[in-house]
Amino acid sequence: MGAIAAALQACRKRIDSACHAAGRAKNCAHLMAVSKTFPVAAIRQAYASGQRVFGESYLQEALPKLEQLADLAIEWHFIGPLQSNKTRQIATHFDWVHSVAREKIAQRLSEQRPADMPPLQICLQVNVSGEASKSGVEPDAALALARAISALPNLQLRGFMAIPEPGLSLPAQRSRFRQVAALLTTAQAAGLPLDTLSMGMSDDLEAAIMEGANMVRVGTAIFGARQKIELNQLEQAS
Ligand SMILES: *Cc1c(COP(=O)(O)O)cnc(C)c1O
Repeated sequence: MGAIAAALQACRKRIDSACHAAGRAKNCAHLMAVSKTFPVAAIRQAYASGQRVFGESYLQEALPKLEQLADLAIEWHFIGPLQSNKTRQIATHFDWVHSVAREKIAQRLSEQRPADMPPLQICLQVNVSGEASKSGVEPDAALALARAISALPNLQLRGFMAIPEPGLSLPAQRSRFRQVAALLTTAQAAGLPLDTLSMGMSDDLEAAIMEGANMVRVGTAIFGARQKIELNQLEQAS
């Protein structure tokens, strides 16, 4: 078995164990393989092992990869920083976007979603890290933004996404994730038909699953460590 196939299998086992430990059903969380900075050959290997959902963060990097992989039935998720000048390409090429935090960006995605495609599936990114993060809507503004985005015609709001700051203890990870789960409950009680908690990565997926995550976004534990320098360059280029 190749390294990626083995890592994927181990990752699926980790998810199953975490679901079990949390008293939840086996496969309680879908696995998104985060392939940013990794070549199409790595994605093909993961696909050959049955993986169908992939996440990318940098549009300039992602577009040629999506094109080269157009023969595969991949569900593509955009999870990176969003700027107005990127929304058209994202609305055209992706199935999901997890990093929406502003109404204006959501409006553009809705307007630019091609009419012959199904609604773009959306998660709102929530900032659960306070001053430690600049990304995401503040929790106390999330419900109002969720309502506004729910009204847009070519989007389907599915739930919330969060990225706690790195290096937290397990209890601290859990308290961040619990905040996001509480937001989902509040939004559902307010009548929004949401079903997705996109939270948990290589280092904190157990905590996320404990708190109700049903989509985890895993890169390093599947594909290996990313080159930091390359990532910085991509960030500047995109
Ligand atoms: C890179 C990234 C991931 C994957 O992180 P790992 O620690 O490599 O598993 C998950 N979510 C987002 C938004 C990312 O940018």
